[in-house]
Amino acid sequence: MKRYIAVCLLINSLLLCRLSPAEEKERVFRAGAATSNITPPLGALIVGGWTPLPADEVHDELHVRCLVLDDGQTQLVIGLCDNVGIPREVFDAARKRVSEKLDIPPENQLYAATHTHSASSARSENPTVLAEQLDNYQEFLADRIVDAVRIAHKRLEPAQVGWGSVEEPSELFNRRWFVAEEDQRRNPFGGVDQVRMNPGKSTLLRPAGPVDPELSFLAVKSMDGRPLAVVANYSLHYVGGVPSRVISADYFAVFARRLADELQVQPQYPPFVGILSNGTSGDVNNINFRDRGPSLPPFEKMEQVGRLVARRVAEAMPGIQYHSWVSLDARRTELTLSVRHPTAEMLQYFEQVKARPAGQPAYHQHELTYAERVAQLANSPDTVVVPLQALRIGELAIAAIPFEVFTEIGLEIKKNCPLADCFTIELAGGSYGYLPTPEQHALGGYETWMGTNRVQLDASEMITGQMLEMMNELHKQSK
Ligand SMILES: [Zn+2]
Repeated sequence: MKRYIAVCLLINSLLLCRLSPAEEKERVFRAGAATSNITPPLGALIVGGWTPLPADEVHDELHVRCLVLDDGQTQLVIGLCDNVGIPREVFDAARKRVSEKLDIPPENQLYAATHTHSASSARSENPTVLAEQLDNYQEFLADRIVDAVRIAHKRLEPAQVGWGSVEEPSELFNRRWFVAEEDQRRNPFGGVDQVRMNPGKSTLLRPAGPVDPELSFLAVKSMDGRPLAVVANYSLHYVGGVPSRVISADYFAVFARRLADELQVQPQYPPFVGILSNGTSGDVNNINFRDRGPSLPPFEKMEQVGRLVARRVAEAMPGIQYHSWVSLDARRTELTLSVRHPTAEMLQYFEQVKARPAGQPAYHQHELTYAERVAQLANSPDTVVVPLQALRIGELAIAAIPFEVFTEIGLEIKKNCPLADCFTIELAGGSYGYLPTPEQHALGGYETWMGTNRVQLDASEMITGQMLEMMNELHKQSK
């Protein structure tokens, strides 16, 4: 078998290689899954809100949740970390260590953050030190990613693989709205936007963008039908309802726990691993702006949403086709993007803001935060290099983008992906802020502000183009 593959590679044309029935039988697809705990000690700063606060309780532990797949020739890793956004340096360190220990190429490893807003920061405590030097929590995180992969790899067993999707629009709301009141649309730069993120008491006209109701999933089970792992994907920013200072993996953890219940997984070794990845949800959250309903006790909403999403996946799983073998492939590239820099006029405006006597009303409540963010961008390099990645599992493509990606970008990739099925995992491989489309930039709003967004205004078009190119290549090579 090995020699046969080598010959195929040698003549560089898999098209000419057909497996004989005996060899066909020899092909074994394997899967293994594992988790590792990444909860920081109490006192770690929880980020996700405007002000970081030290943790004083753990509602549920934070994890890396990992799946390793092996088609006999190629191995792929998918690892999701309970964090709001993990810088590239941490993922790169983990990828390097995994490839040294397990001989899995870095481009075949996809790591992402879930975007829970109730986890500690994975950013460097001291951004001025060299990027390769990780601080304590970053080191710990990279090591625990490696541990999850190593355990999952050790657990590899013959498996069947399938994928599918189901629609669940009920929990998704585009959070950017056209609102009538001009004062609701003020921005920290002294201007007025066309749209407002998370509108409060205002006259709602219409949302500024779509939602993506598709709940996609990849499922692996043992040869005798025991569920091994599921990687689902839903385009919902996070749910929240977690008190400040409390650590929680949000509905991503509820999904993992509830899916095991729904599938009636018995206590087993290796344990079943449910994984919920974040889709393209930079502008989509769980707040029904037209009908807010009563406020719920802490943790209640995330429990409800996690349970619903798990139930929908469990209901859809029996309807999918499982394969005893599919081929695996991966592509990775890097894209250089321009970094946005403030204009002289903008810097001048923030000088005025900072000089404003105390007690005078602010034009915008976050103007001082943006004065700082913009000053940081003024001193940052002109370009940034971001990683992009695409995996292929049979006829399923998974895109990985290191931003908080607007939903319409994910929809565009799904529409044009040449493979039968496709979804995008956001905040994968790094964390570079929001990724709106040029059209959404023109409307303004929080996600488009310089400081929350850091790269050129047409970055989404370059990224989508590059992603589809990689997918086309994966598709061509699979023929
Ligand atoms: Zn967020």
